[in-house]
Amino acid sequence: MSPSDVIIIGGGIVGCACAHRLAETGWRVTLVERDTIGSGATAAGMGQIVALDDSPAELVLTADSQRRWHTLGQANPLIHEYTPCGTVWVASDDEELTLAAAKVSSYHAAGLHAELLDAAALYRHEPNLRPGLPGGLRIAGDAVVYSSRSAAWLWEQTGGTLIHDEVTAIQSGGVTLANGRQLRADVVVLATGSRARELVPTLPIRPKKGHLVITDRYPGFIHHQVAEMGYAKNAHLADVDSVAFNIQPRATGQILIGSCRQYDIHTPEVDPHMLGRMLQRCIDFMPGLATLSTLRVWTGYRAATPDGLPLIGPHPHIPGLWLATGHEGLGITTSLGTADLLAALLNHTSPAINPSPYLPERFFPAH
Ligand SMILES: Cc1cc2nc3c(=O)[nH]c(=O)nc-3n(C[C@H](O)[C@H](O)[C@H](O)COP(=O)(O)OP(=O)(O)OC[C@H]3O[C@@H](n4cnc5c(N)ncnc54)[C@H](O)[C@@H]3O)c2cc1C
Repeated sequence: MSPSDVIIIGGGIVGCACAHRLAETGWRVTLVERDTIGSGATAAGMGQIVALDDSPAELVLTADSQRRWHTLGQANPLIHEYTPCGTVWVASDDEELTLAAAKVSSYHAAGLHAELLDAAALYRHEPNLRPGLPGGLRIAGDAVVYSSRSAAWLWEQTGGTLIHDEVTAIQSGGVTLANGRQLRADVVVLATGSRARELVPTLPIRPKKGHLVITDRYPGFIHHQVAEMGYAKNAHLADVDSVAFNIQPRATGQILIGSCRQYDIHTPEVDPHMLGRMLQRCIDFMPGLATLSTLRVWTGYRAATPDGLPLIGPHPHIPGLWLATGHEGLGITTSLGTADLLAALLNHTSPAINPSPYLPERFFPAH
């Protein structure tokens, strides 16, 4: 094979977004995917485009990405199944409502719309919540997409070369495929999500397993993505198994029910105990869920890093290797911001946001 400019390993939403942005800026892209495009965590995820403020750097990247999805989704709403439904974060007590009020300021500072809801406003927006909740927070700019289809669409726009095979090794100036063939390029981008350590074992990535349930069609049962305020505390940062109330209206009228997190479980089977805990948590917040018919349950893996932020940029010790992985439960959202950052760094242009918090070098001591 004659040298390509860039080889991307992994055709999930992150790899496809990077391919799309690099192709837009003049790179010739070869994508290597062992399965089908968008079949990994991208197919397993909820597809919520969400601005989250667990840390300032997370808010900056998610806010930037939310805006990019809005532009992409508004231009092609049917392709991406882009549904700008917003998110309602439910406070379960007065302490969480005080936290919600503080969050309004940080969202506003990031240029996002955020609205504090008292109890009456909460039930006006989501009448099926259990009685007695004090209020919540509404982020109107959040949305829902069909991420596998978005991944495929982003890839199709590139005009690049797709190779269906598994990369078994990365070496200076290229990769080796399972069939023994070698591909050469100056730049290799690792975008294999939770499997990143199979090719670079020193990466600080741990798989976090999640379960999701989808119901039959109940249009109008909920109007927003609805999640508990404790979601970030329970889910994103916790180092132990956790469940959180987090449900989503799909364009079909179905309801997607999540979520839970388990570290270091490598088998994809549904765990009835974890599933039961997750569903009970959701029913506690929205009792009517117990009456809905469910159609399917599945599991998937998030790629967790120790600080909850992705790895975007050059590997400090492996020349020519660039990383776009470690997006945990936000990779569908942050794929577009990730792609823009990666392309700016590779093109030596000014990125839209400061790349420092996401650079992989933070986890590698200097030589
Ligand atoms: C239950 C659940 C719910 C989630 N909900 C949301 C949500 O609502 N919003 C959100 O923003 N994010 C969500 N996420 C997270 C999101 O799904 C991921 O962060 C995102 O999909 C990661 O994309 P990726 O491209 O990095 O990884 P993946 O989608 O896993 O893609 C990696 C690809 O690499 C390929 N690959 C791996 N190894 C090799 C190899 N050696 N050679 C060739 N190809 C290889 C795989 O086949 C795969 O297709 C959720 C995740 C889960 C599990």
